[in-house]
Amino acid sequence: MKSSWKQIYPWIKTAVLNLDSVESLLCQVVEKMAATFDVECLLWIGMEQGSADALRVYGTPQAVQKCAANLGFASCPICHTAHNEGEFTHPTVHLFRPRSLPAWLLDQQNSPHLKQLDNGDLVVPVTSRGTSPAAEPKGMASVANSLQFVLQLSRSLVKVPIANLAAQSPGQALPHSPFLPFSNSPIHGWTLEEIESVEVICSQIGLAYSALYWRQRLEQSRQQAALIGRISHLLNSTLNPDEIVGRIVAELGYGLQCDRSILVNLSQQPVNILAVWDHPERQLVPLNDRQVNQGDWQNVVDLFKHGGASYLQIGSSEPDPDPLQNWLAAMGILSVLLVPLFIQEEFFGTVALLSYQRDRVYLLDELQTVRQVADQAAIALTNAQHYQSLWLKKEVLLRQNSTLKQEALRDELTQLMNRRSLERELEQLSTKAVWTIQPIFSVIVCDIDYFKLVNDAHGHLIGDEVLQNLAQRLQSQLRWGTPAYRYGGEEFVVILTETALSQATDVANRLRHVVRSTPVQTKIGLVEVTASFGVAQQDVMNDQSAWDVLQRADRALYEAKRQGRDQVQALNPSA
Ligand code: GH3
Ligand code: MG
Ligand code: MG
Repeated sequence: MKSSWKQIYPWIKTAVLNLDSVESLLCQVVEKMAATFDVECLLWIGMEQGSADALRVYGTPQAVQKCAANLGFASCPICHTAHNEGEFTHPTVHLFRPRSLPAWLLDQQNSPHLKQLDNGDLVVPVTSRGTSPAAEPKGMASVANSLQFVLQLSRSLVKVPIANLAAQSPGQALPHSPFLPFSNSPIHGWTLEEIESVEVICSQIGLAYSALYWRQRLEQSRQQAALIGRISHLLNSTLNPDEIVGRIVAELGYGLQCDRSILVNLSQQPVNILAVWDHPERQLVPLNDRQVNQGDWQNVVDLFKHGGASYLQIGSSEPDPDPLQNWLAAMGILSVLLVPLFIQEEFFGTVALLSYQRDRVYLLDELQTVRQVADQAAIALTNAQHYQSLWLKKEVLLRQNSTLKQEALRDELTQLMNRRSLERELEQLSTKAVWTIQPIFSVIVCDIDYFKLVNDAHGHLIGDEVLQNLAQRLQSQLRWGTPAYRYGGEEFVVILTETALSQATDVANRLRHVVRSTPVQTKIGLVEVTASFGVAQQDVMNDQSAWDVLQRADRALYEAKRQGRDQVQALNPSA
């Protein structure tokens, strides 16, 4: 006993302090037990109903192969456990996920006890008193000897001479163990010292396991709480759906340390990948083709949409074939965790956490985290959808509103600004606060000469045509941002800001020229017209408002008419 205990004790002592994960500890247990007792070793864990741990078996390669064959796997679905290679140098331990448990293990679940199986394998349950990580928070926790994991040690009978078995006197009672009750019958192929040693070592490993497990669980819970907090904050800070899906895959991928995380939209054809996050430390082939084959994903859609599954784990070597394995194989993916996304109760798609390096097993905690994040994401996407449709509606309304406003301010026949908008402009120019400080402005009033005659000669419709044409000509002579207004029937007004009387008079002359220079082309042929113009400038001292300026320009126009038409008259401020 001493020799094996001596071999293993220093390692156990430092295990909790030095190991970084439960997985490392379990791999090392397999290694140390195999080496110390010269056995093939399997370690069964996560067997309890409602266990926070996933069901899996660690083992030496030969033992895993044999176990898989016994459980009916055609080919052994094993893969190498990822170790932190800098830390230990033992041979590879294999990981295997059984779909069912052998009968003897079910028996151990009910009453853990050390026992020799018919095939000679030694079964050692490792239990804890009331602190089992797998135990229920209430009730179960107080039950003594709750199961942590089970070791199955298989010693080749070739290595242990039959003579040794004979040396152990049949019927000899083994001493009572303080740790594990076991049968009184001798264990063939094992000495009493070895059995005692196995027991003591296992109870110590149980303690190390508990300590490490809870330390790791605490750290995981802390990280997952932080992840959920971060995600809900991030998701609430944007209403852009592209940004939301980008953040979901990045945070989940990083938080759960998968190799690649993607979001697949399965709600419309063609089925496509909306967002991709790659672990920065893995060198993965870029995922350029965002389209995926709908047939490969149909089973996933059915299970989520109609089957109510809350997550799916699919490996490349599952015993139950799934069409998605085509895609996994084509992409070189070993396993995937899929979580559905529902938006406003409609199935939208799935978040897929991809593992390229190992057949990853997610713990219950991790699954719950992914679920919570997916729920948060669904809320954020729903909000974004609402916002987008509201925003679209608002845009349409704004556009309609501005069209209506434009229509209300324009004259229907000429498309110039109408009398109402002229009045509004004059009001603004008359505002007391700006009246004395604004730069001088001028007003031009234009009236077409003898327009009644045009109507009389050619009819009202031709008169309209002429009005439209002249309106366009006048506007075309003005700078961008200076509108011509239709003031009355065939009268137009232009307001020239920052313009004194002489420059305004020049502008009026330019307008007069453009009216008279080219006859208007109408349906019945050319119609010649002229126009008269009155110009006035703002008189800061004497005018009360912009209406006074307009009136003066009107008087100037009257003067132009009186003096024979087709001319510009300007009135000085003092006039
Ligand atoms: P003047 O200004 O040179 O003194 O002579 P005028 O013949 O133009 O006289 P006045 O300005 O008084 O008459 C304006 C005419 O313009 C009266 C009306 O028949 C015509 N008119 C006003 N609005 C419209 C319109 O929208 N379409 C047409 N076709 N004619 C209009
Ligand atoms: Mg007139
Ligand atoms: Mg006229």
